[in-house]
Amino acid sequence: MINISLVPLIKIYTMTWPIPISADSPFSLQNIPYGVYSTEADPSPRIGVPVGDDFVLNLRVISQSGCLNCGSTPYLEADSLNPFMEQTADVWKTVRAAILSALGSDMNPFPANALDKSSEVINHLPCTIGDYTDFYSSREHATNVGIMFRGKENALQPNWLHLPVGYHGRASSVYLTGGDVVRPSGQLQKDKDDPKQGSVYGACRLCDFELEMAVFVGGPENAPGSTVSMDGAMDRIFGFVVMNDWSARDIQKWEYVPLGPFGAKNWATTISPWVVTPMALEPFKCATSAGEQTNPVPLDYLKDPEYGSYDINLGVDIQSPAMSEPARVVTSNFKNLYWNVKQQLVHHSVTGCNMRAGDLLGSGTISGQTEDSFGSMLEQCWKGTKEVKVGDETRKFLKDGDTVFMTGLCQKEGYGNVGFGECKARVVPAGTKLVPGKGKGVWLSE
Ligand code: MN
Repeated sequence: MINISLVPLIKIYTMTWPIPISADSPFSLQNIPYGVYSTEADPSPRIGVPVGDDFVLNLRVISQSGCLNCGSTPYLEADSLNPFMEQTADVWKTVRAAILSALGSDMNPFPANALDKSSEVINHLPCTIGDYTDFYSSREHATNVGIMFRGKENALQPNWLHLPVGYHGRASSVYLTGGDVVRPSGQLQKDKDDPKQGSVYGACRLCDFELEMAVFVGGPENAPGSTVSMDGAMDRIFGFVVMNDWSARDIQKWEYVPLGPFGAKNWATTISPWVVTPMALEPFKCATSAGEQTNPVPLDYLKDPEYGSYDINLGVDIQSPAMSEPARVVTSNFKNLYWNVKQQLVHHSVTGCNMRAGDLLGSGTISGQTEDSFGSMLEQCWKGTKEVKVGDETRKFLKDGDTVFMTGLCQKEGYGNVGFGECKARVVPAGTKLVPGKGKGVWLSE
């Protein structure tokens, strides 16, 4: 029996060719990012590519139909990006070229069920994240934090200009955009000025965001004991997301000596849904805000002959329950990172650490030189010494009910926009019980 109710839907979809892409869409043909999604009608997670604001390509259907003309692509039929991430950079290039070629056809080459409506898409975490590492690579952020906690004279630690400082984080608590995060409780210093007084248990009072981006590692794993060289680094980077590294500043202050952040950072990290490839970012290559690394010159293994970054406009907006729309708090740019992603990856593996497809490397808070570009509330309120304007409201750190929105967008004359989709989550009161949302990696208040 033919399901009559589906017929008009299919007609609408097949008539839409070429797929409409508005000039201001973050998902232009320059972009072609990858993510995992499902719909109410078809709840099985599959790999998708958003094209314009209205449609997402179902890569499982497209791969099975053989219309990509690039041979067998079983890795595009998986329910996560891991198998595709494990392929070589040459495969990533071939698939992108094939998708672009199909999208450029005079006639729609896709089967009728190859397009889903963006409005019906439920996003899932793009892959199983093996390991998560967070760096600390913005010179301005490290300097600001250093001045606040150690004074101007010792702002940057002696090692900072010699290597990309980082710590091993927690993969289990990396969540997808659109969920709630619970204000953490833990040990807080009893007297904030005198650690000798010991600690009390309580809810974090200094709840913060960190504006970051992150890369997903890809490509064949390097053998334990071997390293990723600067030459080969780009071929090990599958793509980029916007990331919020939620931080509990008071927990962090008490616990971090001498091994670095632990519980202050392990309770939540939120990422945007679509993974943007280095190929999409190619036209947006630019110098870093540091210009060159000459004082000191990095050791040979960390020297990048093509030292540079990407011009990605980043923003943080906050909306409280009383506000009718989000208000801008931070405006920054990815190029404000002193150590670039290649250097982070190379340094990560220099000791012989095997890097796996699906590993996530956070950039570190991306602060620039001007106050409006400081990428955390800690810096915005300068350690609690001033109020931060959020629309008509003010606060020093985040309040319960605050939704934090992060966005990344590349724009350049002659190229389509490249965006990442929203990285958004809401802080809910300590002790709130969360239940799984529809998308994998999304948790919501009960
Ligand atoms: Mn961080």
